[in-house]
Amino acid sequence: MSAQAKYKTEPMKLWNKVKEFKTKHFTEYHNAHKDGRLRFLGSTALSISQYTGFENSVIMGSEPFAANIAFYKDFGMKAMEICEKKGMTRELCGYSKCVWGAEFMDKNIMPDGTIIDGWGKPDFASAFSLAPCHCKWFQILCENAGVPMYLYDLPKAYPYNDENLINYMTGQMMANIEECEKAVGQPFIDELFIEGAKNEIKAYDMWTQIMVLNQAVPAPLDEKTMFSFIVPNLTRPYDPETYAFMKELRDEVQDRVDRGIAAVANEQFRVITDAIPPWPALELYRYLEKEYGAVVVGSPYVICLCGSWKFENDEGDLIPTPMPMDIGMPMTTREETVRALCWYRSHFSTETPYNIACGEVLHELTLKIAKQWKADGGMLHQNIGCTMQALGSLESRNAVAAAGIPCINFEGNDADVRDIDMTNMKRKFDIFFEANGVKRLTK
Ligand code: SF4
Repeated sequence: MSAQAKYKTEPMKLWNKVKEFKTKHFTEYHNAHKDGRLRFLGSTALSISQYTGFENSVIMGSEPFAANIAFYKDFGMKAMEICEKKGMTRELCGYSKCVWGAEFMDKNIMPDGTIIDGWGKPDFASAFSLAPCHCKWFQILCENAGVPMYLYDLPKAYPYNDENLINYMTGQMMANIEECEKAVGQPFIDELFIEGAKNEIKAYDMWTQIMVLNQAVPAPLDEKTMFSFIVPNLTRPYDPETYAFMKELRDEVQDRVDRGIAAVANEQFRVITDAIPPWPALELYRYLEKEYGAVVVGSPYVICLCGSWKFENDEGDLIPTPMPMDIGMPMTTREETVRALCWYRSHFSTETPYNIACGEVLHELTLKIAKQWKADGGMLHQNIGCTMQALGSLESRNAVAAAGIPCINFEGNDADVRDIDMTNMKRKFDIFFEANGVKRLTK
């Protein structure tokens, strides 16, 4: 602890373990065919545990797959430029172009930055229309490579996840499983699926507990660190090892809260964001911490991404969605389990708050998070790399500001480094902090 530090801080004990976890999963996915295993690629927006009924397979979440490419800006740029040479325009989704580009090059990049041959063609893929473009991403990807696919429709989500919606989602997931059985020529084993789905729900519930702990002052975690710890839930939520890891993480975070260990030793201003970060420019988090003692305590994105939430009494505080197993929802057959999973995941989970039909609750969610996580301010990412997420961001900013919490939008891109102007971004942050009387620590 330096002489002027306000709080004690320590590195996360599980840091190396989570890095190893990610590397192991990406390696398993890329080696799957060599090892005689099936590959599934699925949008994490709807449970990837739906494929756990297929024995001897490796399942990859498409969003962490894309984010890993975007993080490595040179490789990501190559991927996007190849797409643009083929006529795909600049303003199209960054994640899609990262993955399409990898497919066109037939190369990919591992979490340690090693470029490998083969983009990771799956045996079956599915996507989820949080926004219509999310399915288009997969349609183009799969049509180019001749991969069988199933594209889900999501007309609405929480708070409109009524019986009709759950029936509709359940029907689609049941059909997907049948299509998948035919495509891969392998039977779906219900017992494996039921176990995988329960593990996912338990691991997601654990993430909500970790996020609630981050309401403490000082915050035990900052958002940049959380981005590494979401990986297990996004890549193998069905694995009992993931649940065990999440429990260990919860205990470590609880211990930090009990001992007053801060993520940012000089925490003096707590901030929320709202969307996927500009992956190629994560150093901006370190700028906020070092210059202003500003800690990003969370966002609708990172809090909901691998947890499930609802409003208490439909209008009160944001609280974890109860686990179906705890409220007596049966999960003994395939259909019952699909139904329970669809119910649980159609709350504020993954990116459902950004669903167009739910736009009106996104700003309520953002405001609740700002208040419950004790934010002094908001810096919302106008992510032009994902039009779905950018939609509603201005309303969220207005809702937070109207409640007396200073809040700005800053423009960036989750994948395309050409849209990230670090100099202007930092200048905007400097003005924001100066206007709010936040002392600059380095001057
Ligand atoms: S713009 Fe956003 S919602 Fe659309 S495909 Fe890309 S990541 Fe998905």
